[in-house]
Amino acid sequence: MLQDVRKDLGKLLRSLTPEAFDEQWEHIQVEWADQKAWLKYMAKEYIPTKERWAQAWRQHAHEGIDTNNYIESWHSNLKRNYLGRIRRQRVDFLIRLLSEEIEPDYNRAHIRTGIGFGTRYLNKAEQEGKKSAETLIFSEAEARVRVVSAELAMVDSFTKDDIDYEVKIRDNSFVACSCPAFSRSGLICKHMFLAQRVTTYNIQLEKSILPAAVVSDPETIVNEGRRDEKLHLVDKALTLMDLLADRSLFKRVQSSEDELDKVSTASLTQYISAAEGLLHMKNDVFLHKLDHAKQTR
Ligand SMILES: [Zn+2]
Repeated sequence: MLQDVRKDLGKLLRSLTPEAFDEQWEHIQVEWADQKAWLKYMAKEYIPTKERWAQAWRQHAHEGIDTNNYIESWHSNLKRNYLGRIRRQRVDFLIRLLSEEIEPDYNRAHIRTGIGFGTRYLNKAEQEGKKSAETLIFSEAEARVRVVSAELAMVDSFTKDDIDYEVKIRDNSFVACSCPAFSRSGLICKHMFLAQRVTTYNIQLEKSILPAAVVSDPETIVNEGRRDEKLHLVDKALTLMDLLADRSLFKRVQSSEDELDKVSTASLTQYISAAEGLLHMKNDVFLHKLDHAKQTR
């Protein structure tokens, strides 16, 4: 069964024309009609970005990542992170795994970077960088990014013809850039956004992403008129934290296999995603404290 899926996916990836691609996608939807969750996952996460990975749209791409690299990186990620765990189990479990585990993980990567989770988590400079990266037409964007190895991509400067920057890759994520903007601020720069746009890698920064309001609008921080409103919000946050702190349900599941069987992997993964998102947001709220701690060290 696993072989059949791979074969059908391989055909999809290697279809030479958009028409052949559409035909193969139709075929997959009919052939695997019973795998609804997986088809939904494909339709949501892969089909809308087909120009990025399907050969039908990529015949003239000699630079950047070609279709084979795309498949390889996707497969190696799949193998390393997911298949290892189920090697000895039945292969049709893979289909369930794809929809239950990989999808939430994929979403989590987006929450961590703030991309796709709403641009409000990017500050003004980052939003502008993202826009610069998005205004280029795709083939031009692609020509400006060269993935040199599993650790390094080279990205052309937007302004100077003879300069390119080193964008570091770690665990399939862009983590740093050698340009002045990133070196100065540690914020996501346009080179990282550009590289993210044309490859299969995410952006992942250890430093949480700055919300625009805190840094760019000091008036709202000191404005006395807002204190009541803010105190009310703090109260609300504390109430929610008390509710979240109740561990009894998790403990019960932890100590009873019967209870454990009743909760799904997907819902647990989603809970963790949301909790990690909250932790990142907490860092954002108290960013001034983090900055202060850094300075006094
Ligand atoms: Zn940069």
